[in-house]
Amino acid sequence: MLNLQTIHKPKTLSEALQLAREQDTVLMAGGTALISEKRRDVRAVIDLSALELSFIETRGEDVVIGATTTLAIIVDSDMLRGVADGIVAQAAQQTHANILRNQASAIGTILSESDGIFSVALSALDARLSIASLNDSRVEKVDVSLADFFAQRAMRLQNSIVTEIIIPASARSRRARIETVARTPRDKAIVSICAALEMERGIVRAGALALGGVAETAWRARDAEREILNQGLTDDVIQRAAMAATSALLPRGDFRGSAEYRIEMVRVLTARALREMAK
Ligand SMILES: Cc1cc2nc3c(=O)[nH]c(=O)nc-3n(C[C@H](O)[C@H](O)[C@H](O)COP(=O)(O)OP(=O)(O)OC[C@H]3O[C@@H](n4cnc5c(N)ncnc54)[C@H](O)[C@@H]3O)c2cc1C
Repeated sequence: MLNLQTIHKPKTLSEALQLAREQDTVLMAGGTALISEKRRDVRAVIDLSALELSFIETRGEDVVIGATTTLAIIVDSDMLRGVADGIVAQAAQQTHANILRNQASAIGTILSESDGIFSVALSALDARLSIASLNDSRVEKVDVSLADFFAQRAMRLQNSIVTEIIIPASARSRRARIETVARTPRDKAIVSICAALEMERGIVRAGALALGGVAETAWRARDAEREILNQGLTDDVIQRAAMAATSALLPRGDFRGSAEYRIEMVRVLTARALREMAK
């Protein structure tokens, strides 16, 4: 932010949303992505830290994470460790180095690293985002699924603020597993997969397989999900699902791994995750 002139620190959501309508103004959660961007177009930032959007709480059976909650708080949350084998906390722990997790927020991470393991875990649990905007001068909120949010991101973020990440009650009945491949244990995963399944006497009754590292954002392997629905996780089913997970993928290769390698890793990691869940 080479031309930054003003830092606003609104105390209410309504005030923040008014400011968000101004030209050349951006929202700031942890600020760690913004400071490294060297943008020339930003003249003002809206620091969201006074809006009390840092919390993890239950609402009915849902678990709700305030948008500016840091990854470090998420890692330490007993509440999140108790849902779907704790994969949200685990995914937060696998995102960034310790020192960065103390500052980086949940929403900043979803937006900056939309194909990263944190977004992948949330996608596998069918998480939704709560998004606030102004209608006349009234604050209105809508909930959208993470998949829809990613598909309509520019439109959804216009004059709006993401306030919460909602992990629905259905996550409580899922077992889950993360598998990744990376150049080193601390490097960003080349490919990641999160399987989150509701099993009834060995049969998959519901659930999701989400992938990272194969598209701009977390990707749901819908064909593979169809292969396992209402099936036991036998070797045959697992092999079919692992192949199906690679269908329709058009990943980009980069210095971490080629497109071909990523597709092969999707097959390998999907099979690995499902074999673990079959135990
Ligand atoms: C040393 C270092 C290493 C890094 N390594 C990586 C890396 O490997 N991979 C990577 O992806 N990133 C990396 N980053 C960038 C950044 O740290 C992370 O992506 C981090 O997770 C961003 O979180 P944040 O809360 O700091 O986001 P912020 O910088 O506060 O915001 C990120 C984006 O989200 C928007 N935003 C913030 N809050 C809201 C809201 N409530 N509603 C709507 N929009 C909002 C902002 O306007 C901005 O566009 C690194 C940064 C540093 C300093």
